Amino acid sequence: VSTDTPPAGDLREEYDALADQVRRYRFAYYNEDSPLVSDAEFDRLYRRLEEIEALHPELVTNDSPTQEVGGEVSAAFAPVEHLQRMYSLEDVFSLDELEAWVRKTEGSVANIAPGARIKWLTELKIDGLAVNLLYRNGELVRAATRGDGTTGEDITHNVLTIASIPRTLKGENLPAEMEIRGEVFIPSKDFAHLNETMVEAGKAPFANPRNAAAGSLRQKDPEVTARRPLSMYVHGIGAREGLDVASQSETYDLLQQWGLPTSPYYKVLDTYEEVLKYIAENGEHRHDLSHEIDGIVIKVDDFALQRALGNTSRVPRWSVAYKYPPEEVNTKLLDIRVNV
Ligand code: NAD
Repeated sequence: VSTDTPPAGDLREEYDALADQVRRYRFAYYNEDSPLVSDAEFDRLYRRLEEIEALHPELVTNDSPTQEVGGEVSAAFAPVEHLQRMYSLEDVFSLDELEAWVRKTEGSVANIAPGARIKWLTELKIDGLAVNLLYRNGELVRAATRGDGTTGEDITHNVLTIASIPRTLKGENLPAEMEIRGEVFIPSKDFAHLNETMVEAGKAPFANPRNAAAGSLRQKDPEVTARRPLSMYVHGIGAREGLDVASQSETYDLLQQWGLPTSPYYKVLDTYEEVLKYIAENGEHRHDLSHEIDGIVIKVDDFALQRALGNTSRVPRWSVAYKYPPEEVNTKLLDIRVNV
């Protein structure tokens, strides 16, 4: 702590107020599917919280928003314990921060596995809602939201209405058990039409496709969910039994053969320069994609390295989300109250 750093006592009031504010905004966003501020504003407050904690680690408590996966379980749904914990993602907001993350990860890997070459799995950061699908011997037996990462909400009946999520997987020798993680979203082409029908029905339109997806999936009545144009792409795997795979991209190949929806947009890249190109290209064509994105996710592809790098209480150390600068339109839509 440098001599210019205000003492912790001076920052405590700001810190406590900020932590409360972040919790309140998270509740509105995750539990009510009705954000009170823009994502850019939320990210700004969250960053300030991290900044104060970096100056004064003694302020950090176990229930600080920075130590938790943000999302509670609403009493409206039955709670579901995930077999393996679900995490959030570390965010970076500039290419300098991204490069620092890449170099740090390369340094860690050089210590863990000298001589190993990292393959970077690059994906679009889909602006939707995370789900956890449990398949046993190829049958979908349960679906849950991420919740606080340990416990999610049972949304099985709603997920069964989504056409792109198979109830039964194709193929033989299917794993005895596996948790498939993915993002449920509303394709861009369907979002405007959905909002038109909301307005025609005398309801408030959704603020953005993310809230529309979350609100549509977290319905008490699956028939309402069934009428919403929901889709999903797989972006991870949790607990598994009877599945022997060495990397995430290899897993995606298998999941695709079994009928699960993998994204057409992911790439496995060898160098940071290629990652930068992927970011630039998708940033430029952001609105030509089939769904909304709020960034790019970069992952270490190899599972042995993922395991060795591990996780913090909130995020994996083998993955990062690069967030594109916010767009004007988000702030314009803010005043609209979200209807679920
Ligand atoms: P996050 O959304 O930034 O990142 C983690 C999530 O990204 C994962 O759980 C997963 O669901 C999703 N994801 C999408 N594509 C993925 C991919 N290819 N691979 C892996 N994961 C992928 O983290 P978060 O903790 O859920 O939420 C933070 C975000 O939510 C921030 O962007 C923040 O702005 C927003 N937020 C906004 C408000 C608000 O009031 N506006 C409140 C809370 C959170």
